Amino acid sequence: MSFFIREDPLTDDRRIIASVRSRRPHILKEVVEEEPVQCPFCAGNEALTPRELFVVKGKSGWLVRVIPNKFPAIPHMHDVIVDSPKHDDDLDTIEHLDKLLWTYKERLVHYYNQDGIKYVAVFRNRGRSAGASIPHPHSQVLATPFYPRRFLKEKEKYERENRDVLGDFLKKELELQERVLSVSKNFVVLMSYAPVTPYEVWIAPKDKVSSLIFENRFEELAQTLKDTVALLKSFLGEKLPYNLTVQSAPPWDMDYHYYLRILPRVSVFGGFELETENIIVSVAPEEAVMELRAVKYAQRTE
Ligand SMILES: [Zn+2]
Repeated sequence: MSFFIREDPLTDDRRIIASVRSRRPHILKEVVEEEPVQCPFCAGNEALTPRELFVVKGKSGWLVRVIPNKFPAIPHMHDVIVDSPKHDDDLDTIEHLDKLLWTYKERLVHYYNQDGIKYVAVFRNRGRSAGASIPHPHSQVLATPFYPRRFLKEKEKYERENRDVLGDFLKKELELQERVLSVSKNFVVLMSYAPVTPYEVWIAPKDKVSSLIFENRFEELAQTLKDTVALLKSFLGEKLPYNLTVQSAPPWDMDYHYYLRILPRVSVFGGFELETENIIVSVAPEEAVMELRAVKYAQRTE
């Protein structure tokens, strides 16, 4: 067993890594999801949802639909994005993934143009234990009149240290190669140094881009995301529940470096986490990266 304390490089939040081999959440039980009698997000059932706010069309019908959330956390400020007309699609199979990521950008632009909005959260829940109530692939956009806690902590560090905190961290990680999973022309994929969930992965542009709003390399980003999710699923299970988050600054704040997080939901928070607000993670990122690299090399030589 190994036990150590890590600080999140962007927020300085402490996490406890208590790696116990026998407690590994490797193989997940395949959870049977309850299927709705008629899926409101499937192609052909558009009449079951409110009218769309935005749509991306393909050669034979829509590819992505944005609709108002029927149960909004904040009224008029909460979108549901139907990621694909196909019920069984996921980030590793959606053919138009670049267009889905571009839709995220369009909705960010839309909400940041509204009065009183400070931050727009874009996220995606997959599987019931990741918070998804409908199994059909979908994302959400939620605009808030305040800055969220994580973003505030990150910004405090950017301002205090007056440097590209994530950019500097990425450079160090690329030199060390202890947690890097893959590198493409413009993006780095690495295991989170102080993860919130086992196998938490970050995808970040190498250069300092403050917001997804200023991103235009969607094909490369989509391919990177697709490969990463496919790899996680081939190791942790096809039905892997996980969250995708887009950590991105408002367009008026250029002093930030955006990134995506993939958070596999293979463990649950207990009393310790709720009492202390410190999280215990049972897999060290250095071990997780070795396991995932091994899967990658095995697939390459097949
Ligand atoms: Zn469906």
